[in-house]
Amino acid sequence: MKWKEQILNLKAYQPGKSIDEVKKMFNLEKITKLASNENPFGCSPVVNQMLQSYQPLRSLYPDGYAAKLREATAEFLNVSERQLIFGNGSDEIIQIISRALLKPGVNTIMPAPSFPQYRHNAIIEGAEIREVPLVDGAHDLSSMLAQIDEATAVVWLCSPNNPSGKYINEQGLVGFLNKVPDDILVVLDEAYYEYVVADDYYDSLELVKKHENLLVLRTFSKIYGLASFRVGYGFGQENLVQTLEPVREPFNTNVLGQAAAAAAIQDQDFVHACKEENRKGLEQFYQFCREHNLTYFPSQGNFILIDFNRDGDEVFQFLLSEGYIVRSGQALGYPTCVRVTVGSAEQNNGVIESMKKLWNA
Ligand SMILES: *Cc1c(COP(=O)(O)O)cnc(C)c1O
Repeated sequence: MKWKEQILNLKAYQPGKSIDEVKKMFNLEKITKLASNENPFGCSPVVNQMLQSYQPLRSLYPDGYAAKLREATAEFLNVSERQLIFGNGSDEIIQIISRALLKPGVNTIMPAPSFPQYRHNAIIEGAEIREVPLVDGAHDLSSMLAQIDEATAVVWLCSPNNPSGKYINEQGLVGFLNKVPDDILVVLDEAYYEYVVADDYYDSLELVKKHENLLVLRTFSKIYGLASFRVGYGFGQENLVQTLEPVREPFNTNVLGQAAAAAAIQDQDFVHACKEENRKGLEQFYQFCREHNLTYFPSQGNFILIDFNRDGDEVFQFLLSEGYIVRSGQALGYPTCVRVTVGSAEQNNGVIESMKKLWNA
């Protein structure tokens, strides 16, 4: 068959081990998954309550315009409804952007290591990929700028960056955006935006007003605790978003996801509580790292990358046998690290106690 050549060497997404799989494998009763940066506290009770009585007609397509969710999000962000695009997770918006702008003959610039979907979609579209190594876990914005040429179509930024947890500060981002030519799309992936506490973090809503080539991505999968529903969104200037819209599938977000997300965004108390718990959780890990002289990146997200100075797969396997699913750094570009999602205080204690056994294992 006449496949695109580049997909023949592409691997399908390797899902992490499921809780059921690990239970069986190690004959364990309790498994704690700290691998995908999901919210350990679930989602807002407001969402659960709403879903109990929500009975949409199963036979009807969802609202392709996601009107209720759109209205709620526009109001929350104080943007117009036409500045928003919704996706089946922000993953899908990455795909939409790639479909709209990438092709053979153009190039796209991204940090590395970072979220793998930028690269994955660029490969499928046949674009040239220019990866710019992180420096000490942070974006090297001047080197990224230096990679730009006439054939550049999209620049990806991830802040806070997955998997390093580091963010771009305001001064850095403003300087960068001022130098990127207007006809190159800058995608700013803020999947962990709601967890950020840094004082010198930028305000992307303000930046979007000044930069017609900036598209910001956020998601309901992380702090909102709705990963199973697959809802993400992007915002930018109306022209930009409306040019992308035809590339989106008509019914890409589902009826339950739309309703859940619209309810979730109303409960910002839940979001703030999770953000605070996350800071406390990070402190538990920082303390553990300091006590054991382990290197880590201070994180603005709900995960921490810890360098154990040995094969990340080994650490991963050991923690798995203890009932904790984390992510090995081997697949993330940090071979001697593991990435751990910050869980509840109890879960953090548990995984930390297991980590302590590593040196005797
Ligand atoms: C989790 C994550 C996403 C994808 O989120 P979905 O909305 O669930 O598709 C996007 N970008 C980064 C950096 C992430 O970590």
